[in-house]
Amino acid sequence: MGAEQPYEMVVGLEVHIQLNTKSKLFSSDSTVFGADANSLTNEVSLAHPGTLPVLNKQAVKLAIKLGLACNSEIAKEMYFDRKHYFYPDSPLGYQITQQNKPVCLGGYVSIPFKNQEKKVVLEKIHLEADAGKSIHDQSDKYSLIDLNRAGMPLLELVTKPVLESPEEVGIFINEIQKIVRFLDVSDGNMEEGSLRCDANISLKRKSDTQLGQKVEIKNMNSTRNVRKALVYEYERQSEILNTGGRVVGESRLFNVNNGRTEDMREKEEAHDYRYFPDPDLAPFVVSEEMLEKIESKMILLPFDLRKLFVEEYRLSPKEALIIADNKITAKLIIDLVEAGIPADLAGKWLAGPVKALINQSDLLFSLDSKELASLVTLVNENKITYTNAINKVLPELVKSVGIETSKLVAEMNLTVDDDESSLSGIIDGILINHPEEVEAYKNGKKVLLQLFMGQVMKQTQGKADPKITMKLIKDKIG
Ligand code: MN
Repeated sequence: MGAEQPYEMVVGLEVHIQLNTKSKLFSSDSTVFGADANSLTNEVSLAHPGTLPVLNKQAVKLAIKLGLACNSEIAKEMYFDRKHYFYPDSPLGYQITQQNKPVCLGGYVSIPFKNQEKKVVLEKIHLEADAGKSIHDQSDKYSLIDLNRAGMPLLELVTKPVLESPEEVGIFINEIQKIVRFLDVSDGNMEEGSLRCDANISLKRKSDTQLGQKVEIKNMNSTRNVRKALVYEYERQSEILNTGGRVVGESRLFNVNNGRTEDMREKEEAHDYRYFPDPDLAPFVVSEEMLEKIESKMILLPFDLRKLFVEEYRLSPKEALIIADNKITAKLIIDLVEAGIPADLAGKWLAGPVKALINQSDLLFSLDSKELASLVTLVNENKITYTNAINKVLPELVKSVGIETSKLVAEMNLTVDDDESSLSGIIDGILINHPEEVEAYKNGKKVLLQLFMGQVMKQTQGKADPKITMKLIKDKIG
């Protein structure tokens, strides 16, 4: 967006989040990803006459969890509405959603933007059932329909029109992804469609107080596509406005192949859907007990954690971001600090070798904070070298659940060798075998010290106490 542009972008997002319940929102069909087409389709998913929906309570609990995390007001009583439209992938002829009494009202999500905190204000978060999937491109003659997705439990999180740039929108989506993963509300996988975004974008002159005509870009499943679509839409709408035209209120699709948005249909108004409360579903009452139980299990989220790590642990913003973004490292650092490990030291371990191991080992990573604390302490007390600790012991600790660090170090025979006389013997041998290097060192090529150190480490499997070794070498040829 060039500085000469007279328009501001205003964006409101609708994020559809697929909940990680075992069964669908109103039936016992499984929600597993990647099943054969139309294999997760019982009578309810197929909307056979006479079947009735039964609300999945777990979905409500997850919705409340996200609502609490987003500082929303949780409804004491909610109900479901029918949103009517005709489409082949929706056998009911309507979508069950929450138009008037959503589970969560208002709230905000804090995002880090330009080194500041920005509160993205929410309209609501509501529960709804997903539609099936039409597949148009496999045959010239037919469209195919897969109803596995029909009835999948979704949360739709709706922001107010408060986002102002593609970058900000990208950061917001990433933050939502982190939050739902932290809370175990959803796997947040955008490629698998567990997180999908509709963006409502309008342009206005900087001096205008009223919002411009909004255009909806539907169903994007990557942060990158959302950002690209917004950049394209800004250009497109600017051009219309610059030439005295009028932006049409419509739904558009982002074409990933050419990076453009294309018109899809004119935007429906709410009254086109003939909403009314679903008579098949009784209003759901959220008891005090249910709410308290969920509240008592709430955990710190990435935003709070980053704050804690910077303000109290005094980590650099970069380290804080790395550690706070991952549930495992976030929990580990809190445990380490509680166990008495200095925060800056704990931060280096977690942002460095521990994070690197997590990146390699995927979802199966488990590491006992007590054992990690003893490893850090062993290094600090010079009982084992840092190199051996991170390269040999740490991966083993992750692999073998329940093993004690001290036992492992002893078993692996990695205890630091700080016996001066044995080290002295080893060093003598190395110096004798490198007469030319010793001579060069004496003549000022001090960098050769690293070569001698390396030889000692090699012969001792990295167990030689670095300080003592260095001192002995210097004493002998310095
Ligand atoms: Mn929706």
